[in-house]
Amino acid sequence: MFDLAIIGAGPAGMSAALTAADHGLTVVVIDEQQRAGGQIFRQPPEAFTGSVLHPTAGYGWATELIRRFEEDPRLTTEFGWSAIGVLHDDAEPGDLCVAINHPEHGTRVIGARRLLIATGAYDLPVAFPGWTLPGVMTAGGVQTLVKAQRIAPVGDVVLAGAHPLLLLVADLLVRDGVPVREVAFAQSIPTPTDMLRALGAVPGHLRMLAETGAIVARLVRKGVRVSPRTIVTAAHGTEHVSGIELARVDRQWRVTGAPREVAASHLVLGYGFSASTELARQIGCELAFDSPRGGWVVEHDERLRTSVPGVFVAGEPTGVAGADRSCAEGALAGLGIAADLGRPVPSAKFAEAERGIRKATRFSTVVQRMFEPVREALGDLATRETTICRCELVTRGAIDDFLESSPFVSNVNAVKLSCRTGMGPCQGRYCESGVGTVLASARDQPIGLGGRFSAHLPIKPVPVGDLRGLDSAAEQSASDGTGPLRP
Ligand SMILES: Cc1cc2nc3c(=O)[nH]c(=O)nc-3n(C[C@H](O)[C@H](O)[C@H](O)COP(=O)(O)OP(=O)(O)OC[C@H]3O[C@@H](n4cnc5c(N)ncnc54)[C@H](O)[C@@H]3O)c2cc1C
Repeated sequence: MFDLAIIGAGPAGMSAALTAADHGLTVVVIDEQQRAGGQIFRQPPEAFTGSVLHPTAGYGWATELIRRFEEDPRLTTEFGWSAIGVLHDDAEPGDLCVAINHPEHGTRVIGARRLLIATGAYDLPVAFPGWTLPGVMTAGGVQTLVKAQRIAPVGDVVLAGAHPLLLLVADLLVRDGVPVREVAFAQSIPTPTDMLRALGAVPGHLRMLAETGAIVARLVRKGVRVSPRTIVTAAHGTEHVSGIELARVDRQWRVTGAPREVAASHLVLGYGFSASTELARQIGCELAFDSPRGGWVVEHDERLRTSVPGVFVAGEPTGVAGADRSCAEGALAGLGIAADLGRPVPSAKFAEAERGIRKATRFSTVVQRMFEPVREALGDLATRETTICRCELVTRGAIDDFLESSPFVSNVNAVKLSCRTGMGPCQGRYCESGVGTVLASARDQPIGLGGRFSAHLPIKPVPVGDLRGLDSAAEQSASDGTGPLRP
């Protein structure tokens, strides 16, 4: 039994683990990646020779954090394992058992007195005609392939969306020799008023902002067209993408003109991120809808305790706010959990961690405001024929028809039960935002009012046979006299 199990070895998880270990806790960190770093500092497998970590500009602390984490003998790490759910021990209500799965080693459980959810975020999916064609990818997905596997798309690429990650990915591709045709942003070029409002983000981030400016200059020099107020309305092709339809939009991202087509074999989408909250949902944590901060985020108190006893949260599940804030929250969570388990933690340490969070928040609030997706306009890109749920092949037309015939339905889970949206292997990660916006538009209500999909163990697809591991864990637990486990 560990004092603390942490799910996620990104900036939040790494910083929490080191802080908790500094205060005498036994810590296990579980991450489905092969190495520490999380999404932003993702590293190639160790077997890749010559792999050197180049942290994103502006995050000079990352190399040292990863080095300390990887070399710390006090930490137990389980890389390559996915947390698929959490079971409660009725005999010891404070104790939790985390069910973890490995593609080759099956399923087992790890016991811990406290749990920290530091599961990060994932690319916000947007449905429009052709979005399921081979060749359409997300910006985070392309970045992952380049960073972790050194694989880049072959052929002409168009990037479209509304998030600065698009610029980083375009730069990565151009440097790799990939022909990037165009980067289309739904936003306008910032006005002087926008710039004034963004000034709060400048202190401490000059290097990052300068690097972003340098990327735009590099792209333009290489002949990449950067188009503001432009949105992708369709991807065309039969077996694979062959053309991208782009159209001008107004400030609310509503299409204002006839679309034009750009020939390309790949479309890279980057509209921002959704907080990764499925584990928190499965455990029963309270969530709240906060669009600029990544949709559904986990509620918590000032010490990052969730509504479920013993379960804490840090990093992007509390709101998508960048690596600085994730790292600062990880430190606060590590201190909070140590204090919760009776370790002495000086109040000065808490004050220092809280200062770190406040500083990071000044930047992230500006970024969230500037790059908030206009979800209603994105929802309207899907036509009746567009697939919204790609696992169960449910079209927008099927959802619209159901909502028209069932005027009292106003909740996404009711849509899920009737239309099967969100019932497939991705458990709604791809379609929840689409279903939410379609429902909101049909009922003329705010998106958050439609609620969210629930999540059940296993939160990630695993072979049915692997779940046998959970039976034996439960039996072991019963024979130990520690009582039955329940999801
Ligand atoms: C694909 C992608 C690329 C990004 N690239 C950049 C970038 O280049 N620059 C930038 O500024 N920001 C980037 N971001 C935003 C970035 O996520 C954050 O700023 C930062 O990494 C957040 O740190 P974190 O610790 O909160 O979460 P993350 O860094 O996302 O770490 C979460 C970790 O949890 C693990 N995990 C999640 N669920 C499970 C589970 N069930 N079981 C086991 N492990 C699990 C993941 O594998 C991951 O390693 C990216 C985000 C994504 C999704």
